[in-house]
Amino acid sequence: MEGHKYVPWKEVRTWRCIRCGKCCNIFSIPLTLGEAFNITRKYGPVVVNKGGKFLLISKFNGDCIFLERRNGRAYCTIYPERPFVCRIYPFYIKLRPLRKSEKSEALYECEDGLEVYVYLDMTCEGIEKGGHFIEDLVPKAVTIWRNHMKL
Ligand code: SF4
Ligand code: SF4
Repeated sequence: MEGHKYVPWKEVRTWRCIRCGKCCNIFSIPLTLGEAFNITRKYGPVVVNKGGKFLLISKFNGDCIFLERRNGRAYCTIYPERPFVCRIYPFYIKLRPLRKSEKSEALYECEDGLEVYVYLDMTCEGIEKGGHFIEDLVPKAVTIWRNHMKL
């Protein structure tokens, strides 16, 4: 959560990735053991183990090792295989609300009745830039999250 500014999804209207590359620069990218294994096997030594946490390595300017910048736009060179944290960004989902006062603003009820709490990271430059309505994106983000969490 370090460096993130989470707000409940009902307080946000739209999102569009403007390919600024900020999220691929300012955050460390944690990997699951499986992701670390697969990425290392395919791309070589691009993962570091910091205190038991697997992280993607960065370039000298802070960009993720897999980020490419062309004509002022950022591209992920492993987009179809990018780690879970990159696939779910800028969403952040929990089984408990981060703050009790925002409980109803963050609540999303899945079709099977599971209640989850969904937030957006306001450090993303694509928040409120049009493109997609948040209510259309939330079910997709929850599905990605549930598949990852095996819930
Ligand atoms: S910070 Fe947001 S808009 Fe910028 S590249 Fe990341 S997801 Fe896209
Ligand atoms: S893996 Fe791709 S999406 Fe994830 S931080 Fe690196 S460049 Fe960005």
